[in-house]
Amino acid sequence: MISCNMTMSLVTQRIKRIWYSGQRSPLVANMICLVHLVEKYADVSYLYNSGYTLLRDPHHNKGLSFTEKERDAHYLRGLLPPAVVSQELQIKKIMHNLRQYQLPLQRYMAMMDLQERNERLFYKLLIDNVEELLPVVYTPTVGEACQKYGCIFRQPQGLYVTLRDKGKVLEVLRNWPQRNIQVIVVTDGERILGLGDLGSQGMGIPVGKLALYTALGGVRPSACLPITIDVGTNNEELLNDEFYIGLRQKRATGKEYHELMEEFMSAVKQIYGEKVLIQFEDFANHNAFDLLAKYSKSHLVFNDDIQGTASVVLAGLLAALKVVGGTLAEHTYLFLGAGEAGTGIAELIALEISRQTKAPIEECRKKVWLVDSKGLIVNSRKDSLQSFKKPWAHEHEPLTSLFDAVQSIKPTVLIGTSGVGRTFTKEVVEAMASFNERPIIFSLSNPTSHSECTAEEAYNWTQGRAVFASGSPFAPVEYNGQTFVPGQSNNAYIFPGFGLGLVISGAIRVHEDMLLAASEALADQATQENFDKGSIFPPFTNIRKISARIAAAVAEKAYELGLATRLPPPRDLVKYAESCMYTPVYRNYR
Ligand code: NAD
Repeated sequence: MISCNMTMSLVTQRIKRIWYSGQRSPLVANMICLVHLVEKYADVSYLYNSGYTLLRDPHHNKGLSFTEKERDAHYLRGLLPPAVVSQELQIKKIMHNLRQYQLPLQRYMAMMDLQERNERLFYKLLIDNVEELLPVVYTPTVGEACQKYGCIFRQPQGLYVTLRDKGKVLEVLRNWPQRNIQVIVVTDGERILGLGDLGSQGMGIPVGKLALYTALGGVRPSACLPITIDVGTNNEELLNDEFYIGLRQKRATGKEYHELMEEFMSAVKQIYGEKVLIQFEDFANHNAFDLLAKYSKSHLVFNDDIQGTASVVLAGLLAALKVVGGTLAEHTYLFLGAGEAGTGIAELIALEISRQTKAPIEECRKKVWLVDSKGLIVNSRKDSLQSFKKPWAHEHEPLTSLFDAVQSIKPTVLIGTSGVGRTFTKEVVEAMASFNERPIIFSLSNPTSHSECTAEEAYNWTQGRAVFASGSPFAPVEYNGQTFVPGQSNNAYIFPGFGLGLVISGAIRVHEDMLLAASEALADQATQENFDKGSIFPPFTNIRKISARIAAAVAEKAYELGLATRLPPPRDLVKYAESCMYTPVYRNYR
């Protein structure tokens, strides 16, 4: 048995090596197809490893959960202590251990270790304890992990494409061991969360986002590829840090930057085809808008900071309207902060109003006002505005303070996306409450200390009348004998299901109507019970069901728009989405 497995493994490796080295004759192509089919559908790849190697293979290792029969069949006897335990007991033990750690970063490192040791256990743990572990594998802890990435680095978890690879990006991509990639999350590390330029250490973000793609959206882990484009960093502290893992040079810009991005984008398409989703993550906004605009015509691209945020916040608004009443077009919106999040949300609101009322988008934009660091965005400032702010320059006298803008515009919805905390002051919130029976107030800036106001302030200053949501989680608030559970407009509600929808339909482009479909699908899942508690979002514990519904809505739109390539369309898209989702329970090995 073992020699047969080893021979099979050697043959497979040899065929793959020939293929990756570029020798792609029809015979090799047929053989590689066969290998992939066997690996994908029969999933007998665990047969290639046995004994000690199987225990060191995170894709197939089950630790103490290997049965007596499996221990005999795969040469594990003696390599494990005699106890045989269930996956549930393993989870119980790990949760117990994780809760002993004092520091969130220690929990993060323990989770990463587990991912590298036993992939299925990692994902089962994450799915079963999603509310507790989401802040560990993603924000806020991932931010600290990125800051200290050089120090805590043990194993590369993704692919690094650097300026040194210019002219050889295709070869770099070929070094990645998996071929059937469906989702890439890529960053250049320039604007990691609210923490600024972290260069190569931004890798924690694609790794974390893809863990959520698998846990929350059910995309197979082997189909996910985290990538960091390293063009240097302007972070002096990192450049002087002996443990820094990236290129020690100032950030490349202009032609040099765009040539590398262009080479990367075409190499991705060449190697993984038209249907691979490329999610841009945490690019600084001077590149983010341009990259999205440029590549959305030729690639399947999605920017979570712009489009994912917009979709989740629109979902929150659609749900809030069920509480407050009125249509989207009947409300007036004022934003504090006109960056990727603010202008992205503003555009999607205007688009949904346009779809609902059939009015031109230019007209619908007039319902939405934005304040940036220089004050209200108005026509007289147009010449000096960055291009993504120009559509929001309306006719109005210049105003510099948010309070003045609130008094003058009288918005029904106030949204904070400035990244600056405590900017929804008592007088601003009280002004909102003075002319709105149920003011909608979203304080979206992260982390908690940057939130424009706290949940408690929003409820206290409006006598419990605010419909409130935040970017960072807030604990339930007691006001006048009532308990409010504020909703969190977490992007993780949208992007995993959104990506799954693209993957299962074989979509080749992202269309803005798909974002609207995702928002509507999420809003539909918030119930009266959630509203009664003060939340406009459904609880996160149901996230896989939510993701399946979002995926179905996105896929349906892809078919409707003629952008889907998986034909014929499945009859029941929700069931189909659920059936495609990766589940990390252990399999029995023959
Ligand atoms: P960004 O840097 O692209 O934009 C920030 C904008 O705020 C810029 O236009 C800046 O000029 C403006 N600004 C800065 N100081 C200001 C001030 N004092 N008054 C008014 N405007 C000011 O950042 P972004 O990606 O748009 O993110 C903004 C915030 O939104 C961050 O805190 C981020 O964490 C949060 N966010 C939340 C969610 C969510 O809730 N799901 C999603 C994405 C981003």
